[in-house]
Amino acid sequence: MKRRIAILGSTGSIGTQTLDVVRQHPDLFEVETIVANNSTDVLIAQAREFRVGNVVVCNKDRYREVADVMQPEDIKVWAGIESAGALAAASNVDIVVAAMVGFSGLRPVVEAIRAGKIIALANKETLVAAGAPVMALSRQHQAPILPVDSEHSAIFQCLLAAQGNAVARLHLTASGGPFRCWSREKIAAATAADALKHPNWNMGAKITIDSATMVNKGFEVIEAKWLFDMEPDRINVVVHPESVVHSMVEFEDGAVIAQLGCPDMRQPIQFALSFPDRLTLNNKKLDFATLGSLSFEAPDMERFPGLRLAYEAIGHGGNVPCAMNAADEVAVAAFLRGEIGFYDIPSIISDCIAGVNFVADPSLDDIFDTDAEAKARASELVRKHSR
Ligand code: MG
Repeated sequence: MKRRIAILGSTGSIGTQTLDVVRQHPDLFEVETIVANNSTDVLIAQAREFRVGNVVVCNKDRYREVADVMQPEDIKVWAGIESAGALAAASNVDIVVAAMVGFSGLRPVVEAIRAGKIIALANKETLVAAGAPVMALSRQHQAPILPVDSEHSAIFQCLLAAQGNAVARLHLTASGGPFRCWSREKIAAATAADALKHPNWNMGAKITIDSATMVNKGFEVIEAKWLFDMEPDRINVVVHPESVVHSMVEFEDGAVIAQLGCPDMRQPIQFALSFPDRLTLNNKKLDFATLGSLSFEAPDMERFPGLRLAYEAIGHGGNVPCAMNAADEVAVAAFLRGEIGFYDIPSIISDCIAGVNFVADPSLDDIFDTDAEAKARASELVRKHSR
């Protein structure tokens, strides 16, 4: 039986790499549904190549562009993100690859969890904003959440060696981003174009800016807390510029298990799709003889306050990480438009964390309220900071 896949965000970086994995194993996987916001040309080409059953165009204004072209073919076209959730939850889907960017990915993921699907999670905002209610739903509906984020996939792979033994610490590696060696003054004047030059990973714009601020790494600490039920003070971040060690698990006897590989997201994507099996992959393999040295250093939380803010947010708990995520989405979009400076991003996040109407044990409805409130507040702050 082929595993039938729905890809939420099929035209983005994770989505296209997921399709490349499927392309390599057409005997094992079948794409049932693809979902994207705006990239209609890519969506149409994907629909034809993979003979999908359903295509969702989230941006309703662009639905016709796809529907008109697909009409003569046996492919159904739907409009709006509501359809994405319904199709992800449909009975002809086994695995949902959650690869939409940002908080908007939460609703369809929740619908898929409620339908008991396997979730291959790339959308970390789902757990950053709504970790407690999402994990509770995952348990209730026996819908496993398998990590696609490279660090979390690494930890997931290392934990297979745990055999029920207690874990002492998780070590999340971070590339350090494009500004690792820059002074605070130089970083302060950085533009979106500077921040978009990531040294090791080729990713979408939002996550690349999040990597430059290290907000991404902070979000990964929060994501790891929920995925692996680990207190944040036992989640250590270490900067590792080569991005060869994807993360590590330390046991109580001091033994550390690491997962290594060339930076290529198709490995964690494929492992989430094929788990517990490993399949062949035509990626670049590590050559230890030419690899030279691997280096590690502590992160600088002064130059990169995004990481410190995430520890602070998860320390407060409740709906505070949700507010941080909302503030970051608004601030990063403004930075990409050239409206605010680099350090305005952590500053806006900090103000939004401080101003949140605290809810200790938020429901999903509380999370949606917090997201809207924090985004409104962050938008005001963007206007204040605008140059
Ligand atoms: Mg990552």
